[in-house]
Amino acid sequence: MTRRIFRSICFVSVAVLLLAIALVIGVLYSYFSATQQEQMRTQVVLAAQAVEHEGSLYFEELDADLSSPEQTVATGFRITWISPDGTVLSDTAADAGDLDNHLGREEIREALDMGYGESVRYSDTLTERRIYAASRLSDGSVVRVSCTQLALFPLLMAMLPQIALTLVITLVLAFLLALYESKRLVKPLNELDLDALPAVPMQGYEELRPLLSRLSAQQTQIHLRDAELRRRQDEFRAVTDGLSDGLILFNVQGTVISTNRAAVRLMPKPPSIVRRTKRPWTEGQSVKALPVELGLETLLEKARHAGFSESTVTVNNLTYRLHADPVVSEEDVLGFVVLIVNITERLRVEQMRREFTANVSHELKTPLHTIAGCSELLSEGMVAPGDIPAFAAQIHTEAQRMIRLVEDIIKLSHLDEAAEDLPRTEMDLTAIGRRTVGSFSAMAEAAGVTLVFEGDEPLLLDGIPGQPEAVVSNLCSNAIKYNHPGGTVTVSVRAISPSETGVETDRIRLRVADTGIGIPEAYQDRIFERFFRVDKSRSKSVGGTGLGLSIVKHAVALHGGRIEVESREGAGTVFTVFFP
Ligand code: ADP
Repeated sequence: MTRRIFRSICFVSVAVLLLAIALVIGVLYSYFSATQQEQMRTQVVLAAQAVEHEGSLYFEELDADLSSPEQTVATGFRITWISPDGTVLSDTAADAGDLDNHLGREEIREALDMGYGESVRYSDTLTERRIYAASRLSDGSVVRVSCTQLALFPLLMAMLPQIALTLVITLVLAFLLALYESKRLVKPLNELDLDALPAVPMQGYEELRPLLSRLSAQQTQIHLRDAELRRRQDEFRAVTDGLSDGLILFNVQGTVISTNRAAVRLMPKPPSIVRRTKRPWTEGQSVKALPVELGLETLLEKARHAGFSESTVTVNNLTYRLHADPVVSEEDVLGFVVLIVNITERLRVEQMRREFTANVSHELKTPLHTIAGCSELLSEGMVAPGDIPAFAAQIHTEAQRMIRLVEDIIKLSHLDEAAEDLPRTEMDLTAIGRRTVGSFSAMAEAAGVTLVFEGDEPLLLDGIPGQPEAVVSNLCSNAIKYNHPGGTVTVSVRAISPSETGVETDRIRLRVADTGIGIPEAYQDRIFERFFRVDKSRSKSVGGTGLGLSIVKHAVALHGGRIEVESREGAGTVFTVFFP
């Protein structure tokens, strides 16, 4: 804009200047012409008076130099004396005898008729435009004075140095002024604060008021739209951030437009060069800048060609299922949506189920084989009558084991299925503990183990009916089963304060301590796994299923509690359960 104004000002200045020069020259030219004509009139009157008095003598008296044709041209004046019949009597520029009859000349005719005549025309004699003025004498003859008419071109040439100087000075001035003015005009526009519109008073720019009002209206609209867009973006972010699965939006070039929190969490640490902003570091990054191990580039490429694509990747021991869909509008791919689902837990559960099924089949097969074998021998009469009770007892034992196994499986699957939906009631853990421990007194006695219960104050628990009993009974039976004769089992319940453990939710502590065989440290983490047993044959011989501690852990978790184990091989084991 500055340049345009500058150019306009320069152009106008030069045009005005040239026009002014042309005008001045025109005015000067007409002024000089008028003056010249006036001079001619005076000259002719003077010459006429001289010729009237002196006749041909006047021409002779005229200086010889002056009367030469060259001088006539030089001074510009030529005086001619013409007789009433048109014959040239004397002439300062040519020989009178060489000149033709002048009666036909306009100024001569006018002078003969009216005493005075004038004309301007091209002179064949002097080959230039001349002004003629003629005056009639008393004898009827005519004296004519002529001179070269003032021409424009010579006038221009004469004034050229002045014109050129004026032009140069004016152009330099115009240039400097244009530079200053154009900057001065544009400055307020450049400094215009669009956010302060229309409050900014633009003095001297009244014509811009409609434009500024429109700008202001548009500015307001842009702000509104901006706010609306931001609101929608925030909403979108709030919704997507709430998703536990990762969501990444790419544009068609593969640049990340948006990532939700889960997606950013799935990414390894951002490269240190990435500047930390409020937005997730991934936004604005090219797909190439994202971790290669996620294989997103290949995923997008496949989705672009096949309409969708899926892949499974494992990063940092976690397995993700990636699903990419192109965003299509009127057959053009505008971008891609990538959903990243952490399927580690699902895979783990599936794996656990497979193992569980295999374990269950295996656990059931063994007693079934024994039952089938014994019953076959019995039915075929191949057992000596004295051995029949032993065979029957074997069948009974194996059947009992299967019943326990099936019962434990049912309990576990019941816990798996119902999970948090199980109804809860307020119950007294002390009463439950005392009652359950009491039911094991016979078993403890048979095993030669002293069973002690500690706890007298009622401890209320919002529990799932049957589950606290299952916890106490499984821990208690294990403590007896994996004990030595003469050993002790102490079951205690008491209220605790969170400060004792440092865990906010801990309120009730159930402890089952024994002086039994203990658990090797290497297995202490695994004893809660389904079907895990440290010593399989010992477990079997004492009627274990390998599911007891799984049920305990599950039941405790359903109550929002936690379980800890401390054990020393040969010295004993302490299971501690904390309930909220
Ligand atoms: P099981 O039915 O075999 O007892 P559990 O799940 O109850 O199955 O226990 C898993 C394994 O943990 C047991 O087989 C045993 O090896 C070990 N165990 C559990 N409780 C004790 C304990 N009090 N003392 C020693 N070992 C124990």
